[in-house]
Amino acid sequence: MKGGPSRHFTWEEVGLPAPTTPEAAHYASALFRNAREMAQRLEVVRAAADSPIRVGSWYRSPAVNALIDDAATRSTHLEAKGVDFEIVRGPYAAPAATQELVEALIRAGAIPDGGLGRYDRHTHLDSGPAGRRWFGKSS
Ligand SMILES: [Zn+2]
Repeated sequence: MKGGPSRHFTWEEVGLPAPTTPEAAHYASALFRNAREMAQRLEVVRAAADSPIRVGSWYRSPAVNALIDDAATRSTHLEAKGVDFEIVRGPYAAPAATQELVEALIRAGAIPDGGLGRYDRHTHLDSGPAGRRWFGKSS
C-alpha cells in the first residue's frame, strides 16, 4: 500500500485502508483528516527526537477497541486522533523522556496541546481536548 498521512508514516501504520475511490475517501474523510493531523504532530516529535518512531496502535475500529482491556469506550483511537508509539532510539526513547520531550514541544508551541498518556512501554498522544495527562500500564 503506497502513501501515508505524512512523509514518514504509512496508512498501514494508521490502520486505515488507503482510500481507493472518491466515495471511500469521502466516507472516511474525517478519519483521514484526523490521521493526517496527528501524523504532523508525530513528524515534529520524530524530528525533535532525531529517531524513527514505532507505531503500536493508531486507528481502531469499534470492534477492535472493544477487545482491548481498559480501552476507553470513547477512545480517541476510534477517530484516528490517538496514537500509541515508541521513540526507537536515542535519549528520548524511554517513555518518561518521551513525555518530557512532548511536553517541551507543547510548551514551545511546536505541537498543539492534547492528550498525553505515559505508559510503562509506550506513549499515547492524541489531538483531543487540551491538558489531559495520565499514567497507565501497557497491555
Ligand atoms: Zn492510546
